[in-house]
Amino acid sequence: MHPPEPAAEARRSDTPRATSAGGIVDRLLLTLTLTGPGATDLGYLLHKHPDRVQEFSLPFGKAQVFYPEAEPERCTAALMLEIDPVGLVRRGAGGGFALAEYVNDRPYVASSFLAVGIVSVFKSALAGNCKPRPELAATALPFEVEVPVVPARGGADLVRRLLEPLGYAVDATPIPLDPQYPEWGNSRYVALKLAGTVRLAELLSHLYVLLPVLDDEKHYWVDDTEIEKLMRRGEGWLPDHPERELIVKRYLKHQASLYAPATAQLQALDAEGADDDAVDESTADGVEAAEANLEGSVLLRDQRLDAVEAAVKASGARRVLDLGCGPGALLRRLIRGGYESVVGVDVSIRALELAARRLKLDLLPDEQRARITLLHGALTYRDERLAGYDAAVLQEVIEHLDEPRLAVAEQNVFGTARPGTVIVTTPNAEYNVMWPSLPAGAFRHRDHRFEWTREEFQAWGARVCERHGYRVDYRPIGPLDETVGSPTQMAVFTR
Ligand code: SAH
Repeated sequence: MHPPEPAAEARRSDTPRATSAGGIVDRLLLTLTLTGPGATDLGYLLHKHPDRVQEFSLPFGKAQVFYPEAEPERCTAALMLEIDPVGLVRRGAGGGFALAEYVNDRPYVASSFLAVGIVSVFKSALAGNCKPRPELAATALPFEVEVPVVPARGGADLVRRLLEPLGYAVDATPIPLDPQYPEWGNSRYVALKLAGTVRLAELLSHLYVLLPVLDDEKHYWVDDTEIEKLMRRGEGWLPDHPERELIVKRYLKHQASLYAPATAQLQALDAEGADDDAVDESTADGVEAAEANLEGSVLLRDQRLDAVEAAVKASGARRVLDLGCGPGALLRRLIRGGYESVVGVDVSIRALELAARRLKLDLLPDEQRARITLLHGALTYRDERLAGYDAAVLQEVIEHLDEPRLAVAEQNVFGTARPGTVIVTTPNAEYNVMWPSLPAGAFRHRDHRFEWTREEFQAWGARVCERHGYRVDYRPIGPLDETVGSPTQMAVFTR
């Protein structure tokens, strides 16, 4: 599981990066117009002042927001993205902790750049927040959107089928391959104009989901967090959309292991109405099923949980930290283990919310409830709350941290929190060749910063022991292959 999206709006960059020439997609533009009296309220709604050009750095380049017009009756904001192919390759590099960089959303797909631009630059608006004028965010207003070039497999017709049911007047004009040679026919791009009276958050959610759906780019590795994004951004409109099946399939890149659970969730919604609890349970299970599938074996996840749970138990710990707990698969087991205190920590609020619901914290008897805590926190910040525990688990977490952040997290866990036992699991990269569906050299999850061989993991472990005074013991998890080892590797550090 991965943190779903930047928790904060993208950082304004002080030093604009140079854009390399020669990228396939260099610039993408989207304009958003509010008409009628009070049109300049658009500035409040977007949290971007109409008088300024503002620039933001994104994992793949930079974004600018500016207002080509700001009249009392008509105000237009433009979001322009410049893609930097070099920055793309260096994904995640660079020092300093920046959440927006860590959780770069879906950086590799042409039209998805716009989706990332929207979620990064207009995060608050997408969430329906407008602190200075909350009533504006809650009101349907007359908006117009223009995207001059939209990749659309399925053409103008599909554009209309996707957007008209959501209440927009749609103008989708096919762009010819070459205007000089009309006989060549149309390209797969359309010029898109939309007009509708909607809440801004709805409008941005529609674009966030549907632009990548129209693009239908298939060549990248999606993981289970996409289900969660789709469900969240599709809330309130996707379940009833006549093209919902196509939307789900395309959004999840035609991967049955992902769209099957997503479709099941939507069907659960149909069957049970909006019964919160039922839906959330199925979300968590669907997510888990999808992850298990990606790893080639439904069992691996369970075997990992078994191994980690056993290692915690064997350590004799009474007070346990689950660092990077995600939606709480391990916590669910630990709270049944009779521990004095179990604490789940994650940087993703969404993951913590899922964990809270799936642990049914609100239904636990007080005495049991008192023994479990969920903390929002980043391992890359020194955190005094993590001191005084007997054991800490980092299950499938370290590979999400790039080198500088891993070094900080290491110091915080082994140096500052210093529990008697630290249990770390991470993929064994050598085993990846056993999964034919995983392209050679690819990671198991898009968000992984590295996947180590056994030797690399052990080299890291040895350095940790040296620096912080621990001993370590390595164990394989999952089926053991003679040559490449097991899919998951575990290290148990003791002080
Ligand atoms: N331990 C869980 C989840 C693994 S996915 C399991 O095995 O099922 C990795 C988790 O680490 C995600 O939930 C992510 O939000 C969390 N994470 C990543 N970087 C983090 C950081 N710097 N601080 C805390 N949590 C982090």
